[in-house]
Amino acid sequence: MVSFVYFIFDAEFQTKRMSLLTVGSVAFDAIETPFGKTDKIIGGAGTYIALAASFYKNEQKIISVVGEDFPQEMLDQLTARNVDISGLQIKKGEKTFFWSGIYHNDMNSRDTLVTELNVLENFDPIVPENYQGSEYLLLGNLSPQVQRQVIERLTKRPKLIAMDTMNFWMDIALDELKQTLKLIDVLIINDEEARQLSGEYSLVKASKVIRAMGPKFLIIKKGEHGALLFHENKMFFAPALPLEEVFDPTGAGDTFAGGFMGYIASTNDFSFDNMKRAIINGSALASFCVEEFGTERLTQITPQDLEERIAEFVALANFEMEQVIN
Ligand code: AMP
Repeated sequence: MVSFVYFIFDAEFQTKRMSLLTVGSVAFDAIETPFGKTDKIIGGAGTYIALAASFYKNEQKIISVVGEDFPQEMLDQLTARNVDISGLQIKKGEKTFFWSGIYHNDMNSRDTLVTELNVLENFDPIVPENYQGSEYLLLGNLSPQVQRQVIERLTKRPKLIAMDTMNFWMDIALDELKQTLKLIDVLIINDEEARQLSGEYSLVKASKVIRAMGPKFLIIKKGEHGALLFHENKMFFAPALPLEEVFDPTGAGDTFAGGFMGYIASTNDFSFDNMKRAIINGSALASFCVEEFGTERLTQITPQDLEERIAEFVALANFEMEQVIN
């Protein structure tokens, strides 16, 4: 009898979905790449994260803000993907955050042309009651003050807090950023940002400086050159899938982060070895994201497409070696 009860409890425990709470911009973007130019399209770190993370079995919740000008249709798309948007505020009479950028020919670097904060300027990230108790938290690229507010407003600390940021915040809010870094577990940034934040060119040295600021885990994204994971004295490298054509890299970083945390939460395992698998998931989703402008490609692919692409990643990096030196 006792073992039977145990069995039911265990089965229930196994199937319990984890809650992944995301905070991030939901925005309009205008993008120019060597392949063309878009008018205002849907973007925002929170949007890419939510779309990517929706490939995993979690209870997904988002905290964000948009203006009255944001299309209901896109919000419906998030709801259709089981993203709880009760923490996404719609501000009457105000405009949605707008960002515009232009990519250089190598597609690895870009210049920001416009950042209109609009609704983000005075964003007060209200945490709905039903969001409390979320086990996993992903702080998308936003003001470090807002990111910290969310952590402080959660009555129970999530099991794992991951965070993205960018040079924009290092330039204008470095002290705030350093305060927030003390509160998180995983920082996800690109190589240029890691160098700026640490003042070190070597990424290995940079990783030590940054981890001394708070996060025990650091992921450094290197665009088409893959991503590095650092923890204690361990290091892992995951390649990016070489693609014939990169159409638009916007949102690749957020998609990576969404895939990474989506996988971690759905497996409820944040060991170093599982983080390796999570990085491959994030990289696979990011490789789709860059194939079309904006969120287009992410909304088209199926779980089977994702599975096949992950197999390509495994084949790309897998080799057997027999040591032949006598
Ligand atoms: P990524 O290409 O991964 O760096 O992310 C691009 C997305 O980040 C775009 O869709 C923008 O809307 C959003 N974004 C750019 N700058 C900011 C900012 N300062 N705060 C919040 N979101 C931003």
